[in-house]
Amino acid sequence: MVVNSINKQDNVTGNKVIKINYSISKPYCITRFPVYREYTYWLDDKPINNINNLKGIKIRTLLNKLQIGPTQEAWEEGPIETYNPLNCRIDVALQNCRDDMAFVSKYGLPLPTQGTPPKNSGLFWLVCKPLSWAQFYWGTSPNSEFGQAIIQKIDEMFPKNNLKDKEKIKTFVLQQANEAMNGVHYKVQLINGYLAPAVEFDSLWDVAWFQFLQNLDKGIEYRQCPECGNLFVPEHGKQKFCPPVTDLKGNKLTKRSTCENTWNQRKKRERNKEKKVIN
Ligand SMILES: [Zn+2]
Repeated sequence: MVVNSINKQDNVTGNKVIKINYSISKPYCITRFPVYREYTYWLDDKPINNINNLKGIKIRTLLNKLQIGPTQEAWEEGPIETYNPLNCRIDVALQNCRDDMAFVSKYGLPLPTQGTPPKNSGLFWLVCKPLSWAQFYWGTSPNSEFGQAIIQKIDEMFPKNNLKDKEKIKTFVLQQANEAMNGVHYKVQLINGYLAPAVEFDSLWDVAWFQFLQNLDKGIEYRQCPECGNLFVPEHGKQKFCPPVTDLKGNKLTKRSTCENTWNQRKKRERNKEKKVIN
């Protein structure tokens, strides 16, 4: 059965035409990313079971040696799940996760894996956080700390520029995106006997930039949730709060967003308090 296609008739020839529901802007994703049961930090190739053991050591000085990977046992067990990254908002998740382990536990290692068991450097995190902010600042005012840092960076890269601040941020995003998207590869895939536009990714980082590109394509800009401060991609024009959490297949785990509920409950409590004071 052809699931992802619609049957039509060619008006001129009368032949049956099959159109696959994938396009260049919404391609079939060939790449699947693995998730392991358990991860650990590695310092100088030795596993650290508890990140608190690093207390007192300056994390920043360790970044090149501090790595994340599945534990030996989890590696031997194999992945507990492999998933299609385009069912998730990797771009948003990269920005919103509290730390690299929180991200990796859910989405797996972001960069191409090496060694046995595979490990990714913590340096990844230092690089990607400001960049995802750069995504956010596309089209918004550059008055934040990161915005200022990016502006400074562009001044270093292009000393004689006379760009406005907002243009500097866009220049930076452009430069980074084009560099990063070397890991996005367009392909053709056979699906149910029909050829469809497809895409392959080298890393989750490439997925994030690809999703950023899709947002540009649709004219969608990131919004910030007033309750938790996280970024989200609005599904409709009036959406004010971040959407409900989803699993790796893109299924919503709750009907409503926790943030929306929390916000509404607090507003209700505040109104009741005001009423009591008046009475
Ligand atoms: Zn929120």
